[in-house]
Order: sequence, then structure tokens, then C-alpha cells
Amino acid sequence: MSPSASATAAPLAAGAPAPNGNGASSAAHSHLNASAAASNGLRFDTLAIHKGSEPEPATGAIIPSITLATAYRQSTAGISGADGFDYTRFGNPNRNSLEANLAALEGAKHAFAFSSGTAVTTAILSSIPNGSHVVSVADVYGGTHKILTQIVNETNAIKTTFVDLDSNGLKERLTKAITPETKLIWLETPTNPTLRLVDLPLVSQIVKAIDPSIKIAVDGTFMSPYYQNPLSLGADVVSHSATKFLNGHTDVLLGVAVTNDETIAKKLKFVQSSLGAVPSPFDCWLVLRGLKTLPVRMREHGRNALRIAKYLEKHPGIKDVIYPGLPSHPSFALAKKQISPRALRAQVDDGIDIEQGLQYSGMLSFRIDCDPTDPSVGSDVLKELNVITLALSLGGVESLIEQPSTMTHWMVPLEERLALGIGHDLIRLSVGLEDPRDLEEDLDQALTKVLGKSATQPAAETNKKRKADA
Ligand SMILES: *Cc1c(COP(=O)(O)O)cnc(C)c1O
Repeated sequence: MSPSASATAAPLAAGAPAPNGNGASSAAHSHLNASAAASNGLRFDTLAIHKGSEPEPATGAIIPSITLATAYRQSTAGISGADGFDYTRFGNPNRNSLEANLAALEGAKHAFAFSSGTAVTTAILSSIPNGSHVVSVADVYGGTHKILTQIVNETNAIKTTFVDLDSNGLKERLTKAITPETKLIWLETPTNPTLRLVDLPLVSQIVKAIDPSIKIAVDGTFMSPYYQNPLSLGADVVSHSATKFLNGHTDVLLGVAVTNDETIAKKLKFVQSSLGAVPSPFDCWLVLRGLKTLPVRMREHGRNALRIAKYLEKHPGIKDVIYPGLPSHPSFALAKKQISPRALRAQVDDGIDIEQGLQYSGMLSFRIDCDPTDPSVGSDVLKELNVITLALSLGGVESLIEQPSTMTHWMVPLEERLALGIGHDLIRLSVGLEDPRDLEEDLDQALTKVLGKSATQPAAETNKKRKADA
């Protein structure tokens, strides 16, 4: 199959719903009854390696060449060239290969690659009418918040209501927020940086009962298609910042939107080629290369993250660990329900008792035992780290750490931030693939230096008492 032909046809769809129905609303264990294999073809790990990388007919090269040409010869005026290409903004072999792979991994018919995750957000928002109303999850990615409140509100007269979508009282709050002008629901699960979960099938059920034409978009960046396939949980379109886990090597900025909805697909294709925020062929090639190891990396990210979450839970310098795979997380039950059947299966097959902790992607947050209104303690701890790097971004093979209150969420007013639980004590960690013992020792030496509290020394009495009170 030529790359161009495979771009929008992804018959081997790894993330497709299980044939026995809606895995989303069933309990975790009925997930296991659903075939871990795609219903009609190759499995996720195989697709990640081969989809879009079929040997080139001309040379047999098993890795696609990078096609840098911006224009393609046409034999007849008005008719595209041999493989359907004419101008690289409209289509390019490397972009098509990448899109074919990503569509297969999400179990989608269509995938559209953009020059960044942010460009995907813009594209989706450009595909709803002027004057539309959007309902967004409250603690949405900062950049998305900025687009909704400082750009499309001006340029497209789009109004946004931000709603807390925690499961308690979700129906009332969501129903109240939806207006006759509502065209789009924008979700993230887990949210950033407090890693709260949104029950996607429940949101879908509530929204579609009010108005089936309202579209549901999910930013799936934190989970990647390995751990979560929102299209099988009721979403109409999924966006990813491929800059993060999908590429995984912290060297490409790229985004992708996937959908099974023909109307959305048509609009996104039009916006992609018309607004022109498309990725370069080399960037597409690099992300396709990164995707070959996505399942292997994600399993390892999950393993390391769960281990470090458990380690930090016992550390006397830490008062709170937020990781949806920890039994202490308020949405642990939802995490078990919403995780992809393949990620659950892999852990059960490995003999892991998921009731003791679920590997649920590589992002975790924690609160240092300090005054949440004082930025200096968190900042000092991060400065002392030697293996883990203080940096924005996430999802790479190297561990990155940040203080959301001063780095990614500083623009949120203090009161609002504290209400969302984003005090200066909160730290977000993207757990990489280093030996987890080195990560634990690094965290411990930094916490010991700044707080005088070490994992190997007994907790101070006051700390023990406070934990007992909580
Ligand atoms: C990074 C990120 C984005 C934006 O992606 P870029 O590739 O940086 O434009 C959107 N959503 C989430 C959750 C992100 O982490």
C-alpha cells in the first residue's frame, strides 16, 4: 500500500472498541474478557512498528525515506501527481505515514498531524462556528486556557465555561453549563497538574442526551494511546501533543488529531491545509520513529511512575502523592475502568496485583511538606536534583520535573490556583526511563538537603501526627 493510500484508511485499528461492546462502562475485569487483540488484525505493539513503515516499493527500504520536495509533478493540469501529492502543505509521504500509524494506534479512521499540539487545539476550535459556546474542564492545559480566554474569544466570539468535572455532582454542573450555543466539550483526563480524572463515558452520556450534535474533544497527551483510547469511551475527537510521549525523545514539536467523525475529519483536513500549521517531513519521520517504541516506553514509564509514587508516599518530606494508579487516589476505581484493555491485560499477565497499584502512564504530582504559599522550598528542592532535570515539558525518556505554580500555571491567580490545589508545594514529575533507584535516591538527597527529612530516617513526630490526622 502506498503511504498516501494508507493515510485515512486504517483497517487495522488497535484502539477500536472490543467486539463485545462498550468496554468503557463495564468494570475493570470485563475488560479482560474483551480480546486484547484488535478485533480484525494486528495488535498495538505490531502496528506501532509497522503501520506507515511498509517497505518502499521502489527500493525495498524498510524505513521510509524523507521526502523534502515541496512540489510534485503533475501530468495533467488540475490533477494531482502519481501518489495523490501536489504540494507539501496539502500532503506529504512522511506526514501520511505518520498519520496512518497514529490513526491505527487510536483505532481511528482519520488522523491529522499539525506543527504542534497547540496547533491541533487551534484547528479544532477553528472548526466550530463563530459565536459557539465551549465547556472546558476547569484545570485545562495552560496553553488551551490561553487560547480559549485570550484568542478565540476575540477572533471567533467563542465563549467558554470552565467546569469542575470531578465525578461528584458532575451531572448537575455539566447540565447547568451547557447552553443552546454549546458546540464543544473540551476534556483532559487526567488533568494537569493535579491529575484528576474525568469519567468519559458518563460525560458523553450526559452531553449526548442533551444534544447529540455537541462534540466531545479529549486531549489525550498525558496517557498516549497505549493507556487510553478516548474514541472508544465516547469522545468524538482526540488531540495529542506528540511533543510528549508519542515522540518520546524531547526533540520534536508536533501535534495530532484523530477522529472517526466524517464531519470533523473534513473540517480538520480543510483547516490543516488552509491554515497551514503543518509539521515538516523530518519531524513526521522522527515521530514515526519514536512511535515504534511507544508501547515499550509506556509500559516502562508506568512501571517507574507507580514505583516512585509508592516511594514518595512513604517519604517523610512529602505530604501528598497524586497518581491515579495509587489506591489512595480518589478516582482509582475510575482509573481501573478507563485504562485501555491492553494496558490492563499486560499488567495482569505480568502477575501484578492491580488492587495494590495500577501502572497508569508516567505523570505524577506530589506536595512537599511545606507552606503552600512559599515558593522557595519547592524551588530549592528542584535545584538540588542531579539526575532529574528541572524543565518544562514531559513524556520523554529522561525524567523532567517542574513547579507548576511558578512555571506552567503562574498565570492563574493565586486564589484560583490554591482552590485548584496548585500551591507552591505542588511538584509535577514526568517519570522517565532511568533506573528508578537513581530517581529515588536523587529525590531523597534533595529532600534531605532542603527539609532535613530522609526516606532512611524515621519521620519527625509532627509529620507522623499530621499524616494520622489527615
Ligand atoms: C504540551 C501540551 C499541549 C501543547 O502541545 P505543544 O506541542 O507544546 O503545542 C497540549 N496539551 C497538553 C496536555 C500538553 O501537555
